[in-house]
Amino acid sequence: MRKQIVAGNWKMNNDLAQTEALLTDLKKLEQTSGAEVMVAPTFTNLYHAFESLKNSSIEVIAQNMHFADKGAYTGEISAGMLKSIGIKTVILGHSERREYFNETDETLSKKVDTALANDMRVIFCFGEQLHDRKSGNHETVVEQQIKNALFHLEASSFQNIVLAYEPVWAIGTGETASPEQAQDMHAFIRASLAKQYGNDVADATTILYGGSCKPGNAKELFSKPDVDGGLIGGASLVAEDFFAIVNAF
Ligand code: PEP
Repeated sequence: MRKQIVAGNWKMNNDLAQTEALLTDLKKLEQTSGAEVMVAPTFTNLYHAFESLKNSSIEVIAQNMHFADKGAYTGEISAGMLKSIGIKTVILGHSERREYFNETDETLSKKVDTALANDMRVIFCFGEQLHDRKSGNHETVVEQQIKNALFHLEASSFQNIVLAYEPVWAIGTGETASPEQAQDMHAFIRASLAKQYGNDVADATTILYGGSCKPGNAKELFSKPDVDGGLIGGASLVAEDFFAIVNAF
């Protein structure tokens, strides 16, 4: 059976004291589902969060990294740096990275290669804009994003790839894709994987939904057969809300 995952993307929120408070709250909560749980604090708090959650079942992951191993890339962080503090999973391709930091399918493809070469697991994000959905192009756009960044990989690499479908129009807007829209897209993505790599890879790959997933809608979204969990932004900043989503399976 494929893994169910709920990952919290804290984005550029929480200074050290706020991070400490959220970590303390998270550690008090009881997990009743079998999902893997992850949180992605900002870089300055990664090591602290890693140490704090070391003996818990919550994995600390990174929000981004550079494709180069080291060098003159002011402001950037390498896979080796992340690994040196115990981080084994990285989110790549978030729509905010694509939109505000000009990340392209080409750069992302390099980042994916670097992460995998460093034995890291990748949560690869993609999703259509509102105009793509309105014009009925959403499947074409999504398939292209996945193809461009991932379809050069060997089938075995997919053991370390988690996909996160995040329609851009649903991120931080309060507007969620309906469970049916999410299921239709996830089934389409799985079919694309099956076409390229066969059913074994397609069936084993975890596909998360992201975009205004909240305690109130998580259960219905996660009940869909191809929705294997969520990448959670806003609701992951409140421990009780995040755990209500974790326990929604
Ligand atoms: C995200 O940024 O990955 C996300 C899903 O955000 P939100 O849950 O706030 O829509």
